[in-house]
Amino acid sequence: MRLTILGSGTNVHPTRAASGYLVHTDDTILLDFGPRTLANLLKSGVNRHRITHVLFSHYHADHFSDFITYFFDALIFTKYEGGARPPLTVIGPPGTKRLFRTLFATLPGFSHPPFAVYFKEVADRGFTIGKARITPRTVSHTQNLHCLGYRIEYGGKALAYSGDSQYCDSLVRLCGDVDLAVLDCSFPASRPNPVHLHAGQCGQVAKEAGVGQLVLSHFYPITERYNVREQAGEAFGGKIVVGRDLMAIKL
Ligand SMILES: [Zn+2]
Ligand SMILES: [Zn+2]
Repeated sequence: MRLTILGSGTNVHPTRAASGYLVHTDDTILLDFGPRTLANLLKSGVNRHRITHVLFSHYHADHFSDFITYFFDALIFTKYEGGARPPLTVIGPPGTKRLFRTLFATLPGFSHPPFAVYFKEVADRGFTIGKARITPRTVSHTQNLHCLGYRIEYGGKALAYSGDSQYCDSLVRLCGDVDLAVLDCSFPASRPNPVHLHAGQCGQVAKEAGVGQLVLSHFYPITERYNVREQAGEAFGGKIVVGRDLMAIKL
């Protein structure tokens, strides 16, 4: 299994794309599709038309907005450029079908794509993509918003992605004994925010869950001024990686 970070920043950030992570199993899976991650997908060298599954944690724009550009491109590629692509499965929390039905009925050209598109709503039950085992888990983010973290197991390795999350038991369970956890490190410990983890809490989750290696990501611009590795390292003694765009990690 291989992870490529397409975006380690947030909605508006001068040097980082917002949330997006490519996971290579026997399929090419995308976790979230935030602004500027599509440009990094092109830079990654991965054929964008081979992506078969897009998994959304939630629909805040910093996790979602490049999907629209991506899908419009896929329409042009298949309708006018003679291109072919495999079916696309879009997976996300409850509300996913309603959101995409509305979008596809409203945005010009989206209503009858010439390739198969499936929408699937998931909550706290596992499913498979090829030989990969996916476990979504509801995490606490903002009130009245269903946010999912995802755990992906493939080839004897496990990876967890927090989505956007506060510190919660559910997140610790999601990350239990994984080889690698990518956690929402929006803010430094000294500037906490109630709906996101801060760097110190990332370390705490990693320690409690017994993760192999911790990847800090989803940085707000203010967070660049602080040593988040040191802050996370106060609780967690394992390997800590400060995420950056286009970083690839093999598991
Ligand atoms: Zn969010
Ligand atoms: Zn976010």
